[in-house]
Amino acid sequence: MRYISTRGAAPDLTFSEAMMTGLARDGGLYVPETVPVLSRAEIAGMAGLPYEEVAFRVMAPFLGDTFAEAAFRGLIAQAYQSFGHAARAPLVQLGANHFLLELFHGPTLAFKDFAMQLIGQMMQAVLARSGARITIVGATSGDTGSAAMEAFRGLSNVDLFILYPHGRVSEVQRRQMTTPVEANVHAIAMDGDFDDCQARVKDMFNDLAFRDEVRLAGVNSINWARVLAQVVYYFSSAISLGAPHRPVSFTVPTGNFGDIFAGYIARAMGLPIAQLVIATNQNDILDRALRTGDYVTDGVKPSISPSMDIQVSSNFERVLFDAYGRDGAAVAALMGELKAGGFHISQGALQMLRASFASGRCSEDETRATIARTYAATGELLCPHGAVGVKVAQAHLGPVPMITLATAHPAKFPDAVAAAMGERPALPPRMADLFQRPERVTRAANDLGALQALVRGRIAG
Ligand SMILES: *Cc1c(COP(=O)(O)O)cnc(C)c1O
Repeated sequence: MRYISTRGAAPDLTFSEAMMTGLARDGGLYVPETVPVLSRAEIAGMAGLPYEEVAFRVMAPFLGDTFAEAAFRGLIAQAYQSFGHAARAPLVQLGANHFLLELFHGPTLAFKDFAMQLIGQMMQAVLARSGARITIVGATSGDTGSAAMEAFRGLSNVDLFILYPHGRVSEVQRRQMTTPVEANVHAIAMDGDFDDCQARVKDMFNDLAFRDEVRLAGVNSINWARVLAQVVYYFSSAISLGAPHRPVSFTVPTGNFGDIFAGYIARAMGLPIAQLVIATNQNDILDRALRTGDYVTDGVKPSISPSMDIQVSSNFERVLFDAYGRDGAAVAALMGELKAGGFHISQGALQMLRASFASGRCSEDETRATIARTYAATGELLCPHGAVGVKVAQAHLGPVPMITLATAHPAKFPDAVAAAMGERPALPPRMADLFQRPERVTRAANDLGALQALVRGRIAG
């Protein structure tokens, strides 16, 4: 299995090379050259298996000879043992044909743990073979950073730097990033919004001399290994509702397009998915792009679902690559236009995108109302991101079962939840002392040179 860049001008890589590299050297994202297809019998054969075994069967075809079978099974077991629910990703029924996939039982209470815990294990296993040391720099709107800190703290061959937008993450998210005591993890509060943080990380990757000097690796959702880990719960949940014999639909609260792109891959692998619905908050660039054909950025509006406050939706590049017939030069040209504010999607590409995805947007008021209404009707307490999903899903319910992804635990966003329904959700007991732990954080300007100096200084010391 080889991995190719969406911009067509970087070397092909193996799975482990693509995982350790993150962003391709031409600025593109790695995608598998071909997506392996599972037969109906293979999919049916996963019914009733533990999450870890489904994970093994779904991911193994993408890994080539990266790990021996038993070793890979061991890494998967290690990755999910800290989850607070035996099913790992349990389904809850909300209505006649509407289900919620609870993806918030990991150590930092958001779906990012599914990928981050596994990528931490896989990277450590690859580095242990060579004894090499790497520097990981990532940008976060809140949840990626906390999940990465939790997955990488204390690993001997990795320094981790997480850039988050100062003042724009929830207190629980911030504390999850600033309270780990291990010296190899560094929380950086940067001036600006998430797109600024993400842009500086991309700048560091595109500075090839710096990239080689510090042995830079990425764990943002641009990393293919993260997308792959997320494909698994599309299979586990669909199969528990009757796939492959019955199709299912999914609604996915979307920011950087990583999670829903994993659903797109699951469908390409043969999972019968009817609708894949993109759910956005008031930062609705993806919904607008699908409706109008124009992908135009217009400034991030901070919302009560901050992990989706994104305008430059990185993983969208991966689906554009397919929509443009895998023409890397065409994708590179679009991304050049995006730097100047936006681009127009060609008629053929737009047709492909509309055939693959539905979309909807949810306002701030609708988000709060959905939290209150869902709690009153079902007893299920949604976080604001899950609420965006549930609201958008309601417009797409039909005879096919709909699974909405609940991407974070309500206790991760207690202020927004309390404002919506009057009750402050409590942290699970295993995290109850989060507010007592001392914080450790570095403030930084939105300045590439200063950030690079900070990274150099820390890894030298
Ligand atoms: C990251 C995140 C999202 C958005 O996921 P993408 O893969 O970036 O689309 C949604 N909800 C929560 C809680 C998140 O942490």
